[in-house]
Amino acid sequence: MIDFDHEYQMTINGGLTTSDTKIEVYNPATKSVIASVPDATKEQLDAAVIAARNAFPEWSRTPLAQRQADLIKIAEAIEENAEELIALLTREQGKPRAGAEWEIYGSALWFREIAKQTLNDEIVEESDARRVITRFSPLGVVGAIAPWNFPVLLAVWKIAPALLTGNTILLKPSPYTPLCSLKLGEICRGILPPGVLSVVTGGDELGKWMTTHPGIDKIAFTGHTDTGKHVMRSAAGTLKRLTLELGGNDPAIVLPDVDPKVIASQLFWAAFQNNGQFCNATKRLYVHEHVYDEILDAMVEYAKSVKIGNGADPSTQLGPIQNGAQYAKVIEYIDDCKKHGLRFAIGGEVDAHARGWFIPITLVDNPPEDSRIVSEEPFGPILPILKWSDEEDVIARANKSQYGLGASVWGKDLDAVERIGSQLQAGTVWLNEIHQYSPHQAFGGHKESGLGCENSLHGLMEYTNWQTITLNKQVGF
Ligand code: NAD
Repeated sequence: MIDFDHEYQMTINGGLTTSDTKIEVYNPATKSVIASVPDATKEQLDAAVIAARNAFPEWSRTPLAQRQADLIKIAEAIEENAEELIALLTREQGKPRAGAEWEIYGSALWFREIAKQTLNDEIVEESDARRVITRFSPLGVVGAIAPWNFPVLLAVWKIAPALLTGNTILLKPSPYTPLCSLKLGEICRGILPPGVLSVVTGGDELGKWMTTHPGIDKIAFTGHTDTGKHVMRSAAGTLKRLTLELGGNDPAIVLPDVDPKVIASQLFWAAFQNNGQFCNATKRLYVHEHVYDEILDAMVEYAKSVKIGNGADPSTQLGPIQNGAQYAKVIEYIDDCKKHGLRFAIGGEVDAHARGWFIPITLVDNPPEDSRIVSEEPFGPILPILKWSDEEDVIARANKSQYGLGASVWGKDLDAVERIGSQLQAGTVWLNEIHQYSPHQAFGGHKESGLGCENSLHGLMEYTNWQTITLNKQVGF
């Protein structure tokens, strides 16, 4: 039985804590308030930071095997609580069951797989005269700041490597989607020593306090590019380490040799997974002119078959927009298309009386390259489809963006696919597939899509300071 009336509290120093002021949390499918969570005060943040600093010496000295075992226990606890977390995630985020399942079981998988990683000392020299090694030591206290689109998984991408490498961590979820994170904090209380993982909730102000806090050594942030720039500026005062996972405007390039009817559904989900509220959603679809009309028609037909609704209904494939502010932003893009006389192949009419924040699937037919819908990140179920004919030109168009998060190329001619893919400026380039992630595969953005990376040993290293230790073995004094 899932207890939706649960009182959600922050985990600070191993205890549960609330606050006098609260933030209301909505179900985006109904616009109704489903819970209220603490709005942490500065003093509560200080208490969480002190607890994390106090817990750090012992946690960082805990043998790696023990920390790995604790990560696996967290994975097991997530699996034991999976049904509750999946239902809760749908309620607070809006995503339908399949997406919520992927995220919750994916979070457990991430803990298990990150637990297998180790950063061995690098032996630079080992001779009779000298030993030189570079080792990777934990940073101290990490502040993790998460967005609302994949609130659990993107928090786990920070928690698991931070803990494995011996850091302690405070998580601040988005004020729009704090419930699963608070629940995760509660679950981990039985596994981790007090102060090793705290979960604090609050608005953007709490995020700002974290980025300037002298007791926090690193900020691991996922969110908008503009917010990322604020974070970088604020963190400069204390020279915190940073990992920034920011916005994207991922292009997909489709070659003329594809079968339009077969590929249409894959291209559809490349763009509309998580209702387009996805950093790596295809946000510009470049289709070769020979197959353009057929692909557009096939995608329109496919879109008509997709069921939009409350994610709690098992037949729903696309849920609502997660919050009112984002809903207004997506409508602004639709209105901008209308203002400039762009043609919708489907969608474009929003039912303002709908019970939740619902936007219809909207395909924009060959808009100009400089229109807002092409050059910006709408973060909703609206996709521009653009024609191309010249390979060099389409590569230049794909790369003409401040962003460089992901990209994909689709075609039967594998030489052409690889040739084009190798010229795209993005952290991840998928060829004839998309959205394949792994705890062992580096993920991050080029250009204004980010700084540093998550996952893999490269991501793990970002939670450490490298330290070179030299020993002169021939002591002559
Ligand atoms: P957002 O930037 O509005 O908020 C993200 C988090 O930052 C929230 O917890 C928020 O409270 C906090 N925050 C806001 N202002 C802050 C400040 N000045 N200082 C510190 N913290 C602050 O982003 P969002 O709307 O939650 O998420 C959507 C964005 O995230 C999109 O641009 C999307 O592309 C991006 N995103 C990127 C990735 C990636 O891995 N690159 C993944 C998911 C989402």
